[in-house]
This record gives sequence, C-alpha cells and structure tokens, in this order.
Amino acid sequence: MNVSKKAASIVPYTAGEQAEGYIKLNTNENPYPPSPRAAEALRGFDVDKLRLYPSPDSAGLRAAIAKAEGVDADNIFVGNGSDEVLALAFAALFDADEPIEFADVTYSFYPVFARLFDIPYNTVPLNDDFSLPFDKFNFYNGAVIANPNAPTSLSVPVDALRAAAERSRKALIVDEAYIDFADRTESAVRLTSEYDTLAVVKTFSKSYGLAGIRCGYMIAGRKIIDAMRAIKDSFNSYPVDRVCEAVCAAAVSDREYLKDKIQKVKNTRSRVISELRARGVAVFDSDANFIFMEGDKSLYEKFKSQNILVRHFDKPRISDKLRVSVGTDAQMDEFLRVFDKIR
Ligand code: PMP
Repeated sequence: MNVSKKAASIVPYTAGEQAEGYIKLNTNENPYPPSPRAAEALRGFDVDKLRLYPSPDSAGLRAAIAKAEGVDADNIFVGNGSDEVLALAFAALFDADEPIEFADVTYSFYPVFARLFDIPYNTVPLNDDFSLPFDKFNFYNGAVIANPNAPTSLSVPVDALRAAAERSRKALIVDEAYIDFADRTESAVRLTSEYDTLAVVKTFSKSYGLAGIRCGYMIAGRKIIDAMRAIKDSFNSYPVDRVCEAVCAAAVSDREYLKDKIQKVKNTRSRVISELRARGVAVFDSDANFIFMEGDKSLYEKFKSQNILVRHFDKPRISDKLRVSVGTDAQMDEFLRVFDKIR
C-alpha cells in the first residue's frame, strides 16, 4: 500500500515536549491561568448546544475580537490555533511559481507549511546580531515575518513593516504570536486598513493563557479574508468549536486581566534577564514571553535532569543557544538556582 508521496516525504514540525512533572519552560505557554471570565464561560456552557454545529464563520467570536482590536468583524478570520491560520494563509495567499521569503532563523513551521503546499521559498540570513536585514528582502512575491521573532525574541519597528507592505505585490504575513509582550515595537494591526497586502496573525495561546483551546486569528483587508474563507471552506467549514468560541469571546473581553498578566510576565522577564547578565551570561533583549540565551544541548540536558524543561534547537546558528519561556517568579527562581548549580 502506498500513501501519498507528500505524506511519505514531508518532514513535519516537531512541537516542544508536553511532559508532566517538570517546570515547563519549553513551549512559551503562559504560567498564569486564563481570565476568570473564561472559567465562567466554561461553567455556564450549555452542553446541549454541542448537538449543533458551531457558527460557520465564528460570528460571535469575531465580533468579540473586533471590539477588542478596534477593527471591523469583516476583517477577521478565526482558526484552530494560529498554526492553522498560518497554514491556510500559505495556501490562500502564495503560489507555486514564485519563491516567498522568510528569515533563516525564525518559526520553524514556515518551511513546513511551504513544503506542504509546494510553495518555493528563500531564507534570508539574519544579521550576525540576529536583527532582521530588511534590505536583503525584496518583499515582492510574499513574505512571512514573525514580530517579535521566535526563537530570537527580537522585534522590528512597525514602520519597517509599513515599508515592506508598500513593496509587496503579494501578501506580507506578520506573525504576532508574541506581540502583547513587546516593549520596543507595536502591533501592525492598525496598518491593515491602509495596506491590502498586510495580514496580521495573532493567537490566544500566549498572552491569554489559552494554548489548550487552540484558537488564533488573522486581521487583514477583505480580499485576503475572502481568500482565507475560500480555502477554509474547501477544507473544514467549522474551524473552531462552540466551547472555543464561548471561552475565547469571554477571555478577549477582559482587557484588565490581560494587561495585568502581561505586565507580570514582563516584570519577571526583565528580572531574569538582569540576573543572568549579572552572571555574565549572554542574553538577547526580549520582546516576547521567552528569553534567548547562550547555552548548548548539554545545558538543556542538565536542566532536564533537574526537572526543568527548556527548548534547544539542533539547528545551524542557534545550536549554542537555549529558549526559555518566562514562568512565574517562583519557577524562575528555581530556574536560576538550578542554573547556578549545573553551569
Ligand atoms: N507563531 C509563532 C512564532 C509561534 O512561536 C507559535 C507557537 N508555537 C505559533 C505561531 C503558533 O501558536 P498557536 O498555534 O498555539 O496559536
């Protein structure tokens, strides 16, 4: 029996381990629970409603996101995690005859999506300091920029994205999975009404503490949103379920709670970065809910033997670095205590 050539040959993305019993600093989850409004929505959920299919266009959830983001609901597309939104975007916005661009060190799902949909791509090498070399991109045939970038934790100013969107003939996808934690840049959402090439992708997995519910969304002009719907409706016309709709709509309405938890993560982040630098460790300036620091595979393994999971990528240019998600203060105190013991 032969499966498809695609399934036989594709190398899938490998997510960080979901192991129990560790201090988990390896998948950039939020250490704090989601808004109490999310819990209320779950408790109040009418199970009988699960007999019925959800809204085919996630109307209620899109309305709630629209209110929070200050955009029109018609400019929002919702999906089962931003990974799914990104995958559908590759299929909806790029073609097989022209190479798209993304950085050589960025979210490692992008090349997987490109190969899945037979989209050729060029990787643009980041500068030696891992900043993004805007002059080396042409942006003409489509590009994907994670801002802030993962795993480097660095960001680019939103004006640079404006210039890139101006040069694009196809879509410029800006992946803002970590934007809520940024101090040095801001979201490109407000530019989406000016540039019909710009597609901003966000997630409930990080700042909202809802990685387990799998919900992400895109904000873009109507032409891009219509293309996303055309592809989605050729694949699965109900991307998010009723529970997800209810929980995320409740969570997105709680701006105060969100702000408070983001600030807590940012405070812990700056403390840990200072503590590591005081120990002479090279750490990047982080605009995300993780830090990128010097440390090799053996340090990753030593952390693991001490019940702390961090992320090591066996990849060119970054195999001598570790990505460490920012946990609670107590978790990061333990991280530093263990670091002093094993380094
Ligand atoms: N973009 C980036 C840059 C990420 O690091 C992640 C998390 N792995 C995602 C998108 C996907 O997040 P999710 O599917 O949980 O929304």
